Amino acid sequence: MGVPCVRVRREDGEATRKRLAEADLVDDGYDITVEEGWLYVPVTDPTHVPDEYAVVEFDAPVREGQTMPADILGFEPSYERIGALVIIDEDDPQRAREVAEAIVTSDLPVEGVLNRASKIKGEQRVRDWVVLAGDTTEVVHREYGCAFALDLAEVYFSPRLATERHRVVEQVDAGEQAFDMFAGVGPFVVPFAKRGATCVGTDINETAIEYLRANAERNGVADRVTGICGDVREVAADYEGWADRIVMNLPHSADEFLETAVLLAGEDCVLHYYDIQSDDALFGPGERAIRAAAEPDYEVSVEARRAVRSYAPGEQNVVLDVRLRR
Ligand code: SAM
Repeated sequence: MGVPCVRVRREDGEATRKRLAEADLVDDGYDITVEEGWLYVPVTDPTHVPDEYAVVEFDAPVREGQTMPADILGFEPSYERIGALVIIDEDDPQRAREVAEAIVTSDLPVEGVLNRASKIKGEQRVRDWVVLAGDTTEVVHREYGCAFALDLAEVYFSPRLATERHRVVEQVDAGEQAFDMFAGVGPFVVPFAKRGATCVGTDINETAIEYLRANAERNGVADRVTGICGDVREVAADYEGWADRIVMNLPHSADEFLETAVLLAGEDCVLHYYDIQSDDALFGPGERAIRAAAEPDYEVSVEARRAVRSYAPGEQNVVLDVRLRR
């Protein structure tokens, strides 16, 4: 069975392995293999591998003596790793316990297993969990060279958005001013600041803002990141006309905050607007709402329309990158 591997020239192998190990990305369940001058390093999560590496499917041998959850269960369970925790999504409590037991008994480097116990809900977009193994819901997640501490039971966080966040991060220039209206634990503002931007992140969740500040510190950018706990509609008055870039990741109700986004926008500002829409009208509703809020004061041009991921049958999580020029 092919597994995702970083493929590098053999001479670059040790430096690459070290770098991937520092980011907790090496999959110890498989052997690192050399073939025809190339080294293949198995990785746990290809979406978190830095862009300069090529990730390929390669038939890496299972490390001898390694026991994987499937070896214990007799079937391949579906699970997601975030730092040292494993997340499962099992409806049947008995099966959930069996899967968790197999995961901790296996050779996976795991400190705990959590089962999803509710949908993401409420204004703060947090879900309930059942802790099936270990004793914490707190974790340190690594993504494209940044580390984020967070408590899954207290704040919103999705490792699945790593690639999308990285796409946005790569657009950021040193010296620009970026405002994340729904900032969570800082997965946009921290890497923005690492590229030299000055950033403000707001969130109504006090715990999220405490993590955001701690994560700015942890990643060495606390001097360029301001975390503000509060409703962005109230905070925005202090930052009128300030932003060169705005992130709006509150997909179900971002349209209700467009007036605030326009207030924050500077003379020339890029807006990253996340939305959930049905397959037959993915981008039209968002674009119309942005135009209604920004025109005629701003000239509005859509620079990118992208489907980020499937949300539900017939529905997609989408993003619009929109330039507002006064
Ligand atoms: N940007 C973060 C990320 O990608 O991980 C978090 C996104 S999460 C979908 C939306 C966040 O918006 C939540 O942390 C929630 O607490 C916050 N939020 C909801 N309403 C808000 C408001 N009126 N003002 C500021 N933050 C708000």
